[in-house]
Amino acid sequence: MEITPEIKEQILATAKVLSIPMRTKFRGLTTREVLLFEGPNGWAEWSPFTEYEDEEASIWLKAAIEWAFGDIPKTDVKTIKVNATLPAVKDVRAALAPFGKFEVVKIKVAEAGQTLQDDLDRIHQVRERYPDARIRLDANGNWEIETALKIAKTIYQENIPLEYLEQPVRTIAEMAELKLKLQEFNIKIAADESVRKVSDPLAVAQANAADILVLKVAPLGGINNALHIAKEAGLPVVVSSALETSVGISMGAHLAALLNSEYASGLATAALLTEDVTDSPLIPINGEIPVTRITPNKNALTKLQAPEDRTEWWMERLGLCFRLGALEKS
Ligand SMILES: [Mg+2]
Repeated sequence: MEITPEIKEQILATAKVLSIPMRTKFRGLTTREVLLFEGPNGWAEWSPFTEYEDEEASIWLKAAIEWAFGDIPKTDVKTIKVNATLPAVKDVRAALAPFGKFEVVKIKVAEAGQTLQDDLDRIHQVRERYPDARIRLDANGNWEIETALKIAKTIYQENIPLEYLEQPVRTIAEMAELKLKLQEFNIKIAADESVRKVSDPLAVAQANAADILVLKVAPLGGINNALHIAKEAGLPVVVSSALETSVGISMGAHLAALLNSEYASGLATAALLTEDVTDSPLIPINGEIPVTRITPNKNALTKLQAPEDRTEWWMERLGLCFRLGALEKS
């Protein structure tokens, strides 16, 4: 949607930059920075990771603007299922406790500095503590095809209830090759890092490189675009978040409700932040989160306010992304 001067003005008038400590290190981060603003629909979150280029950040901005100002299809769905997430840590119990009860857990694997045996140990620990949970393994593209096959064989032999391997290998070509080889183990793969840009989901579907797509609203430029892309790709979708506050997650939950996927969403990540902007955060109860708009409370906005230099950095980035949005239109 077009960024009019009125929209710009309202965003600048309501923008709050926040800095929120993480519970455990995730994606190499110990603090998460986000910018929130308010439009006629309610509050939206703009939180592209700080290392992202302005081009990418401006797509995230489009998504946030659509959520606060745009036309969004309505839904009657009240809650959606979400998965728990286990970072690559030793203390499995402590890391999973904040999620309460869950049916599906995503285990981070193939982390730098860890071995395949570390990953298997973590999987076994989860199996012992949560024998009924279905498992997803997220390698963030860090395995070689041979390693992924080795793990797949173990999973098959040990009868581990695996939903899918998430981005086991890096490239679309490797994903396609692995997908063929995994057929004998009856193991599915989901594309995550391979579907970051708007053009990616179709490329993945056409290359037959995944059984499932992990989609995030922000990098796809908003709910309407994500709906369109999911339909075009014709594959089952898992809606996921990018480490957002409950404001950002509410946008993903709305997309998940509209898509009505059989797969639990990766939207229980508010539990990874030590604090949230609301007293009713979207953390899961019995493996579900509500589908609702979130209004941050004033105390949280004050308490979590980012240092001045970081606020300046974000406001400058916002200005640059406004200009990119305007360029794209002309
Ligand atoms: Mg992933």
